[in-house]
Amino acid sequence: MLQLMDRFGRIHDYLRISVTDRCNLRCLYCMPEEGMEFAPSEQLLSYDDIVEVVETAASLGVTKLRITGGEPLVRPGLDGLIRRLSAIPGIKDIALTTNGILLGKQAAALKAAGLNRVNISLDTLDPARFRFIARRGELKKVMEGIEAAAAAGLGPIKLNCVLLKGINEDEIAQFLKLAYEHQMHVRFIEYMPIGHADDNWRSHYLPLSRVLEVAEAEGYRISRRTNVQGNGPSDDWEMEGGVGSFGLIHPISDHFCKSCNRLRLTADGSIKPCLYWVDELNVKDALGNRSAMEQLLYRAMDVKPENHEMAEKLANEAQSHMPTDRRMSQIGG
Ligand code: SAM
Ligand code: SF4
Repeated sequence: MLQLMDRFGRIHDYLRISVTDRCNLRCLYCMPEEGMEFAPSEQLLSYDDIVEVVETAASLGVTKLRITGGEPLVRPGLDGLIRRLSAIPGIKDIALTTNGILLGKQAAALKAAGLNRVNISLDTLDPARFRFIARRGELKKVMEGIEAAAAAGLGPIKLNCVLLKGINEDEIAQFLKLAYEHQMHVRFIEYMPIGHADDNWRSHYLPLSRVLEVAEAEGYRISRRTNVQGNGPSDDWEMEGGVGSFGLIHPISDHFCKSCNRLRLTADGSIKPCLYWVDELNVKDALGNRSAMEQLLYRAMDVKPENHEMAEKLANEAQSHMPTDRRMSQIGG
């Protein structure tokens, strides 16, 4: 077996799978409030198709999967897909990224199907602000989802918090307190310009050095943490005497592209070698042909760029490739 290694020597053992571009929320950093257009269901990969792509990827060294979306829990029968993926030889870890709204009802079944861990998106601890950011749904449901995930054994629970200047930056201290007091890992994420041509991004982008300033001001004694299982490109910290921990995902102020080990599969069947750039290879023509699918995955390695250029975009500098026009919900984050 020839592993999936790109031109820069990076081995790819991690596949993020978006199972739908639909969502029950409309987070302001991800989708417009109205008028979002979704792929017709006949354009989506079936669960059989996804299993086929993963079988080939696993035979080339992929061991870790993350199921995402859109909101993955709005697609019916997700536990059945996870059961099938977890039975594929070579697959060692399956995680899910969800907004948590439907997790209360599904956590136990997902765990029984073979799901190992969840990341739950939570940008605010205030119900009214939740409604402002997510535009739909209720914070209470997310909290129920977090409890159900913990009760089902889907830990360590990780919370994904996108920090937005002028919107939720005043909650950094509360999120740090949550991580200090509970067995949770809070991942602060920089607001990324994915599929955004708008200036809204520039005005709400917040560099995550702000989190370290708040931690210091709040009197936490923090130190860098290493080897957090499944954390991927996260800069992790612990607080002396604290139960949980926190991480910083800062693709703009300091990117982790050198250690990138991930490929993405969109719900409509495209392998995306990089989150940021436009390049995609659609798997549909390779379905049913193992050798064609292998060649497609190797081609993804050949076209994978060295790094994204979100920092250059922030600085209004020229870009070396064409950025994607897909939104985060269409790629899977
Ligand atoms: N719906 C699920 C959720 O929200 O967790 C999974 C899909 S969502 C696209 C995956 C992750 O991307 C979430 O943690 C979300 O907060 C994050 N995200 C979406 N748009 C983003 C943006 N423009 N910048 C940074 N993170 C973003
Ligand atoms: Fe939906 Fe997740 Fe995008 Fe929010 S971030 S709109 S929950 S896909």
